[in-house]
Amino acid sequence: MDPALDRPEVGKKWVIKIGSSLLMNGMGRLAEDRLAEWLTQIQSLLQQGYQIVLVSSGAIAVGARRMGWPGKPTQLADRQAAASVGQSILMHGYEKILHQIQRENYRPLHCGQVLLTHEELRNRSRYLNARETLRTLIEHGVLPIVNENDAISHRAIQLGDNDTLAALVANLWDADLLVLLTDQRGLYDADPRTHPDAQFIHRARAGEARLERLAGSGGSLVGTGGMLAKVKAAARAARSGTSTIIANGLEDRVILRIANQEAVGTLLEAKIPVLAARKRWLSDQLRVQGELHLDAGAAAAVDEEGASLLLFGVRAQQGAFRRSDLVSRIDPTGREIARGLVTLDARLLEHCRAQLAAGEEVSADCRILIHRDDLVRSR
Ligand code: GLU
Repeated sequence: MDPALDRPEVGKKWVIKIGSSLLMNGMGRLAEDRLAEWLTQIQSLLQQGYQIVLVSSGAIAVGARRMGWPGKPTQLADRQAAASVGQSILMHGYEKILHQIQRENYRPLHCGQVLLTHEELRNRSRYLNARETLRTLIEHGVLPIVNENDAISHRAIQLGDNDTLAALVANLWDADLLVLLTDQRGLYDADPRTHPDAQFIHRARAGEARLERLAGSGGSLVGTGGMLAKVKAAARAARSGTSTIIANGLEDRVILRIANQEAVGTLLEAKIPVLAARKRWLSDQLRVQGELHLDAGAAAAVDEEGASLLLFGVRAQQGAFRRSDLVSRIDPTGREIARGLVTLDARLLEHCRAQLAAGEEVSADCRILIHRDDLVRSR
């Protein structure tokens, strides 16, 4: 088999982005039949242990239609108004379809709306809050449906397109794979409309300069400016070790076929795996603000299994760290065994430890001090 058609195994944490053009039917309404197909496929993957975040566009387009406007508005204030009207219609559509498909298949699947602005993605504390929200929804078996909060995003802070948003969500959540569903098959090395010998790109490295050059030169890749945004999104996603597949959402069972490692669409691979990227991010970006000294049991759990650190494993603490700061974990021999982002500030941790020592009830929010996803072992 052509090695380009070979698809490596990817993990089960996926961000799937569906663009406005796919979500709308020719009448300017939500394409409910397509939505039902994608959601059925997603539901089947969730049953197999996949963790999926959906990024859905469409609010502005659907809202404009409801307002009786001829197309997507160009004025910012009108776009905000359209998004405000359209976002609830969009979510209503998702709710309705999930309700329909769950009667026919599987156990109930609920969805939760998560609207992000660039603040959540730039500010570290809000960033971690957003991560926590996604994590909690997924732990409860809820499908998070993310969009930009277009009703309040103004030009200076707008992310603008949902390809970028989806890549940032992939970074935020350390996804293994970003799936960008579009109405094109993927990338070609030249415009097949003018170059009959244009080759389809099955597989390339995310961030390769030639891809942006091709996309940026206009028309050398199939699609509109949209392909450049997708190529850039793949490069961005690759920073957290996330690979990207750009594929045609109208192809039969496209999501399931990607999961089966079939050569669907264009795969843009990240150079480094997710864990290595996270480790690099944690060790490069942040200064250590404190130390947590662990008892032998907690140290062994962290050292051997990379387990989350729980309140009762801490013997002593040092430093005036704040929530979301990077702290070291020290084992009973004084050796640093891991680093991670702490969920409580130093004073609250002290208070909770005192409560624990006195045998008092400790709030459930204080029990996990460092989530396993936010820790890197030191060796
Ligand atoms: N967030 C926009 C919306 O929901 C879509 C942006 C895009 O199409 O990329 O309408």
